[in-house]
Amino acid sequence: MNEQVDLLFFAAHADDIELSCGGTIAKSVKDGLKVGLVELTRGEMGTRGTPQIRYRESQRAAKILGVEFRYQLDLGDGGLRTGRDEELEVIEVIRRHRPRVAFAPWPDERHPDHVRTGRICTDAGFYAGLRSLQTSRAAYRPQVTAYYMQNYVLHPTFVVDVTAAWKTKMKAIAAFKSQFHDPKSKDPMIFISDPKFLGMIEARGKHFGAMIGVEYGEAFLTKQPPKLDDIIGAYEGREH
Ligand SMILES: [Zn+2]
Repeated sequence: MNEQVDLLFFAAHADDIELSCGGTIAKSVKDGLKVGLVELTRGEMGTRGTPQIRYRESQRAAKILGVEFRYQLDLGDGGLRTGRDEELEVIEVIRRHRPRVAFAPWPDERHPDHVRTGRICTDAGFYAGLRSLQTSRAAYRPQVTAYYMQNYVLHPTFVVDVTAAWKTKMKAIAAFKSQFHDPKSKDPMIFISDPKFLGMIEARGKHFGAMIGVEYGEAFLTKQPPKLDDIIGAYEGREH
């Protein structure tokens, strides 16, 4: 396992990452970047599947995406704790893996755990860089925290072309058998297990893709705009 990664994706729950960023992860790995995934909870409040089943599924999905590692903290599903102790735990994760870019949910979301994940990861990303804050590891600050969207759709700051990685993303999502549509499952139907849900993911990928003139896209927000060297390349093919 490679401890140090280029991109580190945080989420409250395992499958959150695949749904919003699976294509970006698969593409980045293919491009030679090192990627790590960290969930802040064990998903123990989920309606379908057990934390053990979801953990196994998440490891299968991680293999499909080709990431260096995936593990979980235990900050409490359905009431995620965000006190100083929890903040220090996230700071340690950032100092341990030293990502150039950290990813987290946009901190205004339908699910309060997503909101809290977005906030604690943003704050920890800043605090991790304070040299006077001493922990067992050296100070380190990512360049930026980039946010992905979950329930609420906002106008993105940038869109990643994930056309070539879309199949891998959907394969990784399918690894979460307990969560998504399975006609044989006896678990109660929830929002994401409705067959319409995966259709929505497909439609969203196409919608964001259309925004940049490609087949599939994944969209992100940053509070500061990205630096652009190639203005023409950035808008290539959009005259059609
Ligand atoms: Zn979630």
